[in-house]
Amino acid sequence: MEGRERYVRQMMIPGLGEDGQNKLAESTVGIMGVGGLGSPAAMYLAGAGIGRLVLADPQTPDVTNLNRQVLHWQEDVGSRPKVASAAWKLKRFNPSVDIETHAVEVTAENIAEVFRGADVILDCLDSIPPRLVLSDHALRSSTPLVHAAVEGMHGQVTVVEKGRTPCLRCLFPRAPERRSPFPILGPVAGVFGCLQAAEAIKLITGVGRPLRSQLLLGDMEHNCWETIDVLPAENCPACGER
Ligand SMILES: [Zn+2]
Repeated sequence: MEGRERYVRQMMIPGLGEDGQNKLAESTVGIMGVGGLGSPAAMYLAGAGIGRLVLADPQTPDVTNLNRQVLHWQEDVGSRPKVASAAWKLKRFNPSVDIETHAVEVTAENIAEVFRGADVILDCLDSIPPRLVLSDHALRSSTPLVHAAVEGMHGQVTVVEKGRTPCLRCLFPRAPERRSPFPILGPVAGVFGCLQAAEAIKLITGVGRPLRSQLLLGDMEHNCWETIDVLPAENCPACGER
């Protein structure tokens, strides 16, 4: 197949091979938020040969985004939506990837339409309320979800899957409203966005062990990493009857 040379090195990974590459090429990954997490995640998924990326973000790049949102450059500030800025670069990076863009606020009303056909959705958001909308959609549509969150020099990642793991309402029983804007170091967002891309590739190809019911916590200030179990919340209104 044309263009397979691009993927030769990842196809050498045990268990990935030609079959895994075909699965990636036939997959759709939704990315909710094309900022500090979504930029590296989209870049590495495009590099891996995902067939179709669905990007959703209502914002336009701001100069204060540029320390971490690496798909947006100086020329994009105030000039076009983040999804258009990202799509332009991703298409030039790997022309074989189809990119669908939604420059809209994703809500409980439109989420099923925005992420129609997605095999995996990445939570690249920066506040809790839209994350819960995404978590509910993931359960309703049985779409695996890769959550990540970063602040300062810390971050976390986990995988949510209907019937197999607790959901984001279990993880965030009380939605704390964080102060805005919050501190964030660019490379920290980069690392956690890359972890999301890797989890998505693992879910699609079946390679490795995804972070189902496990929360990977990273403290990049002190280089402390640990994986803890995520427990279902008692009487969770969303995933209670697992
Ligand atoms: Zn739950």
